[in-house]
Amino acid sequence: MAYNDNAPRQMFKGDWKCSKCGAPITELPFEPDPSRLGSLLCRDCHRERRNSFGGRR
Ligand SMILES: [Zn+2]
Repeated sequence: MAYNDNAPRQMFKGDWKCSKCGAPITELPFEPDPSRLGSLLCRDCHRERRNSFGGRR
């Protein structure tokens, strides 16, 4: 799926926790899948992970 820069980013508010650094996550740009709550990443960790993947998909 292409990344649409023109789409308004809807933020989902909640009370989650980063699975990597344990930082609290209060909003996400997507609705988290309940079955994946254990693998949520905060913004910092998410960016790090994306960088380490080299943008490959
Ligand atoms: Zn984190």
